[in-house]
Amino acid sequence: MPKVDDIIATARSENRTYLLEHESKTILKSYNLPVTQFEVAESVDAAVKAATKIGYPVVLKILSPDVIHKSDVGGVLLNLKTPDEVREGYETIISKVKQHKPNAEIRGIFVEEFASKGIEVIIGALKDPQFGPALMFGLGGIFVEVLKDVSFRVAPITKYDAKEMIEEIKGYPILTGIRGQEAADTEALMNILLKISKLVTDYPVINQLDLNPVFSYPKGAKCVDARIILEEEIKTQ
Ligand code: ADP
Ligand code: MG
Repeated sequence: MPKVDDIIATARSENRTYLLEHESKTILKSYNLPVTQFEVAESVDAAVKAATKIGYPVVLKILSPDVIHKSDVGGVLLNLKTPDEVREGYETIISKVKQHKPNAEIRGIFVEEFASKGIEVIIGALKDPQFGPALMFGLGGIFVEVLKDVSFRVAPITKYDAKEMIEEIKGYPILTGIRGQEAADTEALMNILLKISKLVTDYPVINQLDLNPVFSYPKGAKCVDARIILEEEIKTQ
């Protein structure tokens, strides 16, 4: 796909293996994955313009090839409701990031639609040294970090594999609706798994992919954060 190839070529030309969020989300969009609406802004005025285009409330995130975990350095602001909040937020993020990482190259600010709350799940892909690309599924937060409640399958996967991956985690009842909560649309999650399987199979140059989190809704799902890391380039002379 030309768009995907262009993004990878740009990263290569800048000696980057870490794709910026808008690059990763553009790749996801070209595979018809559901992502939050977004714009890249290189100035405060551009950020306000982008927010108007997207519609309030919005989210601002730092756009830097040197910042992988954006919230760790104060690089994410959620639920901004007015142009003034966007103006102030823009400056706040930049000064926070400069404080935490003085040498970080800042490319601008990523302006994004504020997605309504869903059940947080994590969908990922990584390279197993023996089996090649593998897919991962889990529930967000402590379920993955503390309880390691995740499932894996070697790519490419079938629809049946995707279904099993979702149903075999211990936290699965959370997705089927407990305590009067509506059930999550697991079909939408299966579709994301299948499309990610195709993406990493089509592009072996992808070393790691993290959708952390994906918001899962009673109808549909949305990739709220996306990170793609490429293989190190093997330079032949
Ligand atoms: P990072 O993982 O790099 O710190 P994220 O983009 O995942 O940054 O943002 C941190 C958290 O903020 C997410 O886990 C999610 O809960 C919330 N969040 C991020 N983007 C959005 C969005 N567009 N709408 C609603 N919540 C968001
Ligand atoms: Mg994240």
